[in-house]
Amino acid sequence: MSTKQVADLEDEPLVNPDPPSSPPPDPTAADPAWDGRSSKIALAYPILRDFTVIGPGEPCPTCKARGREDRTHQAHLKTSKDSSGVQRGPEAAHLATLQAMGFLRNSPESRQRAEDEARLAAVRGVARAANCRACKGTIARGEDGDFLAMCPNCGNRNGLPELAALTADGLRRILARDLVLGVEGLQEVEKQQLREEAAKLASAVEKGLAAGLQPLAEMLRELLAERKR
Ligand SMILES: [Zn+2]
Ligand SMILES: [Zn+2]
Repeated sequence: MSTKQVADLEDEPLVNPDPPSSPPPDPTAADPAWDGRSSKIALAYPILRDFTVIGPGEPCPTCKARGREDRTHQAHLKTSKDSSGVQRGPEAAHLATLQAMGFLRNSPESRQRAEDEARLAAVRGVARAANCRACKGTIARGEDGDFLAMCPNCGNRNGLPELAALTADGLRRILARDLVLGVEGLQEVEKQQLREEAAKLASAVEKGLAAGLQPLAEMLRELLAERKR
């Protein structure tokens, strides 16, 4: 990884273990070349880590757990550069993914992503515009200084904020809705769904035996009958 924002922040020795909420590194992914150090990353877009949403510029939860508020970075990844500049560690691949997807602040990838998202927002009509997208009529500004949210000529909506890229707060709202039960609750729901799936499968197989597999059942019965003779 050659980008500055990682190099500047990396290599804090893991003197204190991470808070108990972070899972231990997968031993099967352990890289013997990893020196055990972590890299701090600064975010350009929100991520979900250990069931917690972390947004750009927000305090790092790992540092917070150690009693320090630090907004220069948002997470510590279990990866560090070896002597030849290659990232080593259980989260080396994760770091590469985050970089490729434009999550790292001040990276070429995050700048590209910002451009892409802006273009997409323009196509979608996220922001309110001076002219109606439907009738092309002029739309005046309202009391809030922005253009009116509805076209006064044809009633078409002006601006579709719900189609904007998700912010950290938006992600939190979604998670709050889905994580009412908490992590354990979600796992319980998942187990229940698995049980229901298994029951459905069993019932489908039974029906299959009753209908489509009837000839096979007949054949087996005949074979067994022959044996008895
Ligand atoms: Zn930190
Ligand atoms: Zn209109």
